[in-house]
Amino acid sequence: MHAQVVGQIESLNPFEIVQRQIDSAAAVLDLPSHVVEILKKPKRVLAVSFSVRMDDGSVRVFEGYRSQHNDAIGPTKGGIRFHPDVTMDEVKALSMWMSFKCGVVGLPYGGGKGGVICDPHELSKGELERVSRGFMEAIADIVGPEKDIPAPDVYTTPQIMGWMMDTYSRIKGYNSPGVITGKPLIIGGSKGRNEATARGCVYTIIEALKELGRTPEQTTVAIQGFGNAGRIAADLLTEMGCKIVAVSDSKGGIYNPEGLDLKEAERLKDTASLLDYGAEYHISNEDLLALDVDILIPAALENVITTANADRIRAKIIAEAANGPTTPGADRILNEKGIIVIPDILANAGGVTVSYFEWVQNLMNHYWTEEEVNSKLQEKMVHSYHAVRNLAKEYNTDLRTGAFMISLLRIKEAMEARGWV
Ligand code: GLU
Repeated sequence: MHAQVVGQIESLNPFEIVQRQIDSAAAVLDLPSHVVEILKKPKRVLAVSFSVRMDDGSVRVFEGYRSQHNDAIGPTKGGIRFHPDVTMDEVKALSMWMSFKCGVVGLPYGGGKGGVICDPHELSKGELERVSRGFMEAIADIVGPEKDIPAPDVYTTPQIMGWMMDTYSRIKGYNSPGVITGKPLIIGGSKGRNEATARGCVYTIIEALKELGRTPEQTTVAIQGFGNAGRIAADLLTEMGCKIVAVSDSKGGIYNPEGLDLKEAERLKDTASLLDYGAEYHISNEDLLALDVDILIPAALENVITTANADRIRAKIIAEAANGPTTPGADRILNEKGIIVIPDILANAGGVTVSYFEWVQNLMNHYWTEEEVNSKLQEKMVHSYHAVRNLAKEYNTDLRTGAFMISLLRIKEAMEARGWV
């Protein structure tokens, strides 16, 4: 878990990384140390193990976590990840990033996150359903529409949210759509939720491009990660006139300086592999990050931009659709190079923003049109981008620190109002 750098070892533990990010922003604000101490650890972490009957008749035990960071502002909120590399420290960190993300866009939530150690690609549909229901059963005591509201994250889908909502509702004995967001539309999902992370990210990119005085037509883009966020961002940016020159998934990437045929890339991703695009177009994930493009979008996992490769990055703007893609050491190098990093807790906040809209619609039992959802999302993202940017400018710091500062001040105010500090 460590990257070797000249003369020093950089920690890649996401929990240590988020603690360092909190420290940096708290130092600028000169926050009292007890406030910082409270925020450097989640309030509650539940570790569960549960057994699932596999298709071949055997029984397998799965492990998972749910972390709830801070609920001063409201119930905790955040996705559930299914991935073989899930660890408790990772889930803790992701729940903390959720608190700061909700703070940046001003949602009435604290942060939560869940994870199950599994590889969904190796599970049949029936096994996936039993894992999803098993995990929800295991965490049912600590979640709920007024307590902690999960959602999709890496390798989890609307269908999984549907199974989990159904399990929770059966336990309660009544229908409870507000327990989870990112559901299929027919059972209380929100229009626009599926595209929301990418759409929100694109709104922040548009604002950053305006500052650089560039039009979308002059803009080239490389995207690492071709899941919900990366793929839809590619579509939306293409619609705007940008040129997508490279995309990748965990197996590798494809690159064409003249621009990729995205429809073909999507077809291949769905039916076979991105790499079937053609051997002459292959590029490694590592080389994709170093391409001479205007915008680089890390849209996969943590720790892809580290002190080991930050020097090689040539993009003008990095928009973090993933959570935690850049280490603090890499941040320092990118800042020195004058690269604008739109931090994860701002750039990918569109997902949880529309999750909030979904939850509000569930509680009201009244549903909005896609236009209403998208325009409310746009308003929040554009407003938050400028709030972060202005604060960062005022304190002569980077956008990540500015974003953390906004959230720290909000959470501190809520803790004070409740008499916790
Ligand atoms: N998993 C997403 C994130 O990291 C969405 C969370 C949510 O919608 O609650 O922001």
